[in-house]
Amino acid sequence: MIIILKPEATQAEIDHLTQKIKEHGLTPHLSAGQERRLIGVIGDERAIQNMPLSIFPGVESVLPVLAPYKLVSREFKRENSVIPLGDGVTIGGKQVPVMAGPCAVETQAQVLGIAKAVRSAGARLLRGGAFKPRTSPYAFQGLGEEGLQYLAEAKKITGLPVITEVVDPRDIELVAQYADVLQIGARNMQNFRLLTEVGKYHKPVLLKRGLSATIKEFLLSAEYIMSGGNHRVILCERGIRTFETMTRNTLDLAAVPLIKGLSHLPVVVDPSHATGRWDLVAPMALAAVAAGADGLLIEVHGNPEEALSDGEESLKPAKFAAMMTELRKVATAVGREI
Ligand code: PEP
Ligand code: MN
Repeated sequence: MIIILKPEATQAEIDHLTQKIKEHGLTPHLSAGQERRLIGVIGDERAIQNMPLSIFPGVESVLPVLAPYKLVSREFKRENSVIPLGDGVTIGGKQVPVMAGPCAVETQAQVLGIAKAVRSAGARLLRGGAFKPRTSPYAFQGLGEEGLQYLAEAKKITGLPVITEVVDPRDIELVAQYADVLQIGARNMQNFRLLTEVGKYHKPVLLKRGLSATIKEFLLSAEYIMSGGNHRVILCERGIRTFETMTRNTLDLAAVPLIKGLSHLPVVVDPSHATGRWDLVAPMALAAVAAGADGLLIEVHGNPEEALSDGEESLKPAKFAAMMTELRKVATAVGREI
């Protein structure tokens, strides 16, 4: 449920109310929006069903949240969440940051070369996997900590904040030392232990939609992270499995405006994994920004033919730069900036 506070509610009244809620085993989350302050109550509400919350001093009204996800919902927070990602970059506001880089970190020279190229084309974050969740156990699994060090080196030289994937709860501490944004991959969208653990950190988390996840399941996974106390969640639509075989996945672009109606969280689109084809990446990136995406995740490789993973969907730096020029036009047309 959501408790809407009176504008004149005092701190003592709020403390009294949150204390009572906690005494019943529920968790209050105070949210201060531009227009009003409210308290989201999370947990089994049966414990307080006989408590006359609406007559507590400082309370204006009490509303049930009908959606199963609560902290994630627009009912809980009307304004878009704007999340700082490091080095002055934000997501969820006017800026539409492009996060670009290789699928996997391969060598120091590779990641640094790509970082410089995407930076000069206007990317705001560097992406690259050091821990790779591969379908085959025989495929390249990533460089692990060595890869994280290469990303950190590239960040030091280019200034680009880093987004990289964490696949195992035991690695969060390590990955968080290097990453500005933790990525949870599609295959781990319902790894609830991992979600709970990243919920204990204050780092932004980019959560990718599962291969066959419904939007409701996707939002409930985000709720896991937020209910742990980490409200810096970014959602990423990266294509879903359908009967179509010409593309790796089917980009569910309608998910962007749909989720933005249901949730205050920023929504990013990854046209690389969504299509699996480099020639479809730029058109889908343009469409994503037109549809209201708050950011893009794009795979770039200097030599895609030799890439250790996902070369077929990776843009060469020159193609990436050309896409960025087109993206700026679309962003301007819809009142955003890249
Ligand atoms: C990735 O971004 O490198 C990745 C593995 O993507 P996904 O989890 O969407 O398959
Ligand atoms: Mn990839």
